Amino acid sequence: METELYERIEEGLKVKQREIMEFLETTPETEKDICLGNDEHCVENHLHVIETSLEKIDDQTLGICVICHGYVDSKYLEMDYTASVCLDHYSAEERRRLESELELSQVVQRALLPQRMPNIAGVELAAFSRPSEIIGGDYFDFFQFRDGTQGLVIADVSGHGVSAGMLMSSLQTAIRTMAPETDSPAEILERINRFYIHNIKFDTFVTVFLARFDPTNLTLTYANAGHNPPAVTRKGNSDINWLRPTAPAIGLAEEFHPRMESVVFSEGDSLLLYTDGVTEVLNINNEQFGQDRLAELVQKNADLTPPDLLQILRQAVSTFGGNRPLVDDATMIALKISS
Ligand SMILES: [Zn+2]
Repeated sequence: METELYERIEEGLKVKQREIMEFLETTPETEKDICLGNDEHCVENHLHVIETSLEKIDDQTLGICVICHGYVDSKYLEMDYTASVCLDHYSAEERRRLESELELSQVVQRALLPQRMPNIAGVELAAFSRPSEIIGGDYFDFFQFRDGTQGLVIADVSGHGVSAGMLMSSLQTAIRTMAPETDSPAEILERINRFYIHNIKFDTFVTVFLARFDPTNLTLTYANAGHNPPAVTRKGNSDINWLRPTAPAIGLAEEFHPRMESVVFSEGDSLLLYTDGVTEVLNINNEQFGQDRLAELVQKNADLTPPDLLQILRQAVSTFGGNRPLVDDATMIALKISS
């Protein structure tokens, strides 16, 4: 195996290791719950896999095939640093899956596609996204699943500047590539996690809320990988139903099987999706805007149309932050069932 590849993998793994440890150390317990979906062992397993791989790099045994003792293909090892069997020993079906993952690794390097707002029958929709100059990595998109139902995603990439932006664009491409082949939000997240977690090129984690909306029965089916819980409000009822995480954030956990949940909407109900750049805006006393203030505003303005609601929320967040420039990206999407 070339020393250069070992060095590149070692460097990538150390960055990943640092990211995960920082996450575990700096995230308050209450938020860790949201981020991890009560699945801390998964993250520890991931750290263990990274440590074992670093040891193998030391003994120069990383990437040696356990069957024939030759080296696995370096392209394959770069995509999955835990690879320990040559492609030759796989069944035709397993090879197809791995090859499609290799293909995905090439696809995700390509450029960002333009975003557009969809027309969804019976749904009013508005979105707002303000990238910050300092940290970048919010992303939202609309797309179609295989069965023609509407897909929507909102995501937040941890990390900074250019690399977060690249990860965001690769995530968009990955989702758009996979969605036409499936009807399952969980399957897409599972595949993306498998790809991100063992790929040395991706050294950070991402929170993703991915959903499928069927306009014929007004049902939203979703999987939430560690993302801030979207808020559902019912017409004539001030309680908020938070769509809490059903899995850890992407890129943190080795074992990753997101649970899918569904919400059935009726006329006049609404949904608000947002990133932590909204709730984590600080005022001059260093207090966060927080989920409670957001909830209060959503409840108070439940009758408004999505564009008007977003206008009010933007104004409130900006006033709270003392009209200073944003430190983090802020993104919000509001939907309302109109008929
Ligand atoms: Zn082999």
